[in-house]
Amino acid sequence: MEITEIAVDGYERVVRCRDEASGLHALIAVHDTTLGPALGGMRMWPYASEDEALFDVLRLSKGMTYKSAVAETGLGGGKAVIIGDPRKDKSEALFVAMGRFIDQLEGKYITAEDMNIGIPDLEHVSESTRWVTGLSKESGSSGNPSPYTALGCVIGMRAVLEEACGDESFEGRKVVIQGVGAVGGRLAVMLKEKGAEVVICDIDSERVAQLAGEHGFEHVEDSIHLDIECDIYSPCARGAGIDDETVPKLRCQAVAGAANNQCLEPRHAESLRQRGILYAPDFVLNAGGIINVGVELFEGGYDEVQALDRIDRIYTNLKRVFEISRSEEIPTNEAAFRLAEARLAAAR
Ligand code: NAD
Repeated sequence: MEITEIAVDGYERVVRCRDEASGLHALIAVHDTTLGPALGGMRMWPYASEDEALFDVLRLSKGMTYKSAVAETGLGGGKAVIIGDPRKDKSEALFVAMGRFIDQLEGKYITAEDMNIGIPDLEHVSESTRWVTGLSKESGSSGNPSPYTALGCVIGMRAVLEEACGDESFEGRKVVIQGVGAVGGRLAVMLKEKGAEVVICDIDSERVAQLAGEHGFEHVEDSIHLDIECDIYSPCARGAGIDDETVPKLRCQAVAGAANNQCLEPRHAESLRQRGILYAPDFVLNAGGIINVGVELFEGGYDEVQALDRIDRIYTNLKRVFEISRSEEIPTNEAAFRLAEARLAAAR
């Protein structure tokens, strides 16, 4: 087992983890622990090179610092990436080795689920370190974060509707959701229960058929979903969908979804502002999952009532972001960064 330091400006610690016996090749980035230990998920992806993995882990860990700062989770930002094919390269030995590396960081980095990593993988990680969250509820942990992320989106959308449409009621509001997986699917159901008219689309046609069959959602092909006039367009699939090509096509009052990094570049949030479309910064709106996990760590064990109370604050956080955006005449993503920076500066 070999752990080596990679010096990166602006990051507290970045390490390369290699274990020949299990074939593990991973990177862990601790971006900032001013507000608490660095918590962020573990991702497994067949990166073409270590440089590509490094780019991802640096970008994602920094994003976690800002997300937690705005959500006031009492956590810092970190992330781990395993270079490998999740369909072929997973093994108990690999995750146990990963746990040993995480353990060497002595709680400065705490892991959780991310892309291609589920509870069974984390259970193996927990065989060799205690710095793991998001295990099963039966084991006293906080469980799958997705329902809490979806709930946080619903709560945040009330602030969005208030700002963009004048009142927070979902009754009769039309929401188009792109991507109805773990978060988007749940979000669709909750919005419908609140009286919204929900239109769904997903490249997984079986998933669409199942949800439409169970809940009667209108559904459209992904290729035409932007043509639909609506109050809220909710990207809940992959990021980077808001770009030079899509901004002019949007026919909504607001963009508010769970997907990470929705704007291809930060300037696209300004393009939305210029079109008079309200943008709910993704890392503010989709913080429900991380807030839930944070409660597991800080309140003497997981307590759902505490978690729900804290997730409710997404509403006030968004109101604050919109207020800063209006008064400073800056795009909402920049307003959210300023809010995070202010909270970090106050703690330093
Ligand atoms: P998921 O994989 O369960 O669902 C994503 C869905 O999007 C899938 O059904 C997939 O078929 C669909 N999809 C992919 N590309 C598409 C496309 N081009 N057009 C239409 N549909 C497409 O993922 P999830 O856990 O629901 O997460 C959704 C998004 O929210 C991701 O960007 C994720 O990073 C982000 N997010 C998730 C959480 C969480 O708690 N799960 C927390 C914060 C952010």
